[in-house]
Amino acid sequence: MVLYTGCSGVGKGTIMKELLRRDDSIRLSVSNTTRKPRKGEIDGVHYNFVTRDEFIAAADDDGYIESAVYCENYYGTPRKQVEELLEQGFDVFLEIEVQGGIQVMEKYPGVLSIFIMPPSMEELERRLRGRGTEDEETIELRMKQAVKELEAAPRYKYLVVNDVVDRAVDEVLGILESCKSSL
Ligand code: 5GP
Repeated sequence: MVLYTGCSGVGKGTIMKELLRRDDSIRLSVSNTTRKPRKGEIDGVHYNFVTRDEFIAAADDDGYIESAVYCENYYGTPRKQVEELLEQGFDVFLEIEVQGGIQVMEKYPGVLSIFIMPPSMEELERRLRGRGTEDEETIELRMKQAVKELEAAPRYKYLVVNDVVDRAVDEVLGILESCKSSL
């Protein structure tokens, strides 16, 4: 299992897509969320889009490895899905934010953890705006959140700066390769 975190807009989704394309032993855990789908997002592929009641029912049923509230929405990693993928021998990436990341580190102390860093805060803001999917208020909220999130970065075993996507992908694959025996 790989804990894979980075602030919103840092490009961790882009890196993840490349990782999945280049290494077929990698699988991405699909989270449940109460957030509304963005344009182009598919239910069951990018997220399982659920209602608040459905989310809470699954949480009450111990259905999540970790869960968090992020920018007023709930997010959680479904336990069963991850366990099944791990049993099948895949390297399962949990692409999650820091509050959930800390829960995972506490539950699985040896977990391989990778934090994707922006080259700078200016570049992060530029990328968030460039995505064009969020309104001004949400961008400001996400920038504030990003500053808080960066404080958790030193708790992760590996920090990878997303300056150039291909280079960052190579670095993550290198980390994975060198740590495989301990996964
Ligand atoms: P977004 O709304 O941009 O898709 O995701 C917001 C943040 O929530 C991102 O940092 C994303 O990685 C994180 N996230 C996605 N799924 C989960 C999850 O299951 N648990 C937690 N804790 N965070 C998640």
